[in-house]
Amino acid sequence: MKLSKTITTHEDVICLHGTIKKFGRVFTFNVYYVDGLLIDTGPMCVKDTVVEFAKEVQPKQIILTHFHEDHSGNADTLSKLFNIPIRTSSLTADLLKTSPTIPLYRRLIWGKELKAIEGDIVEHSISTDKYQFSIVKTPGHSIDHICLVNEVNGWLFSGDLFLGKRLLYGMKGESIPQLYHSVSNILSYDFDTVFCGHAGIVGHGHEALKAKQSFLQKLIQDTTSLYNRGWSEEKITKRLLSRQSAIQLFSGGEMAPKHLIHSIIKSISSKKSIQTN
Ligand SMILES: [Zn+2]
Repeated sequence: MKLSKTITTHEDVICLHGTIKKFGRVFTFNVYYVDGLLIDTGPMCVKDTVVEFAKEVQPKQIILTHFHEDHSGNADTLSKLFNIPIRTSSLTADLLKTSPTIPLYRRLIWGKELKAIEGDIVEHSISTDKYQFSIVKTPGHSIDHICLVNEVNGWLFSGDLFLGKRLLYGMKGESIPQLYHSVSNILSYDFDTVFCGHAGIVGHGHEALKAKQSFLQKLIQDTTSLYNRGWSEEKITKRLLSRQSAIQLFSGGEMAPKHLIHSIIKSISSKKSIQTN
């Protein structure tokens, strides 16, 4: 594994950005710090780097955007080292109260066992000495996903809500219709800078998320119209998300374009069955 890191700042926010080269592929992570608050903790395989960063900034509390191990991986270590609470949504707390089972490919990328943690549940907002953040539930990428918004400064800590303007493959269990609703909901807030879990600091972030919303809307519309014409899930995936990615093979199918299309079709079918019942 080859790791390179950079530390950047945007106003009062400090960002530890890391790039990991493993198995000939590049993976990224970001840990953010603002006024005593650490937002996400990076994957287990970069524990020393994250601890070193945390020793510099001396966090007073941690918040997790969702339970995935590349965000929660060092929460236990940091919480014990600094004797500080780990704030989470109630769903994240539930998912992490026992050590979750992680698919093999994700263990290979991000590190081994994820330790169970006790989340200190926050529902609507979280404060630091200087700032207040609204907590917005944004399921889709995962069921427990939350974002932090501070409209006064125009900041959105978006976890894995954004990632990029397009999405070519998804994880098993990811829901595109839910993600579309979450992105639409977050766009009703006033922000300009997006602090993304993987893409880093994204300027003109509101516009970038608007582009993501349009992409998701079109994917849902196109899938729906092909499905209504009798196309199979496989054929729709080939037509709309044809680019095959190496990650699909590497993950043994856990990460693939078909999961995105599947989640849309599942939502169409469940709506249809509600209508006919
Ligand atoms: Zn994630």
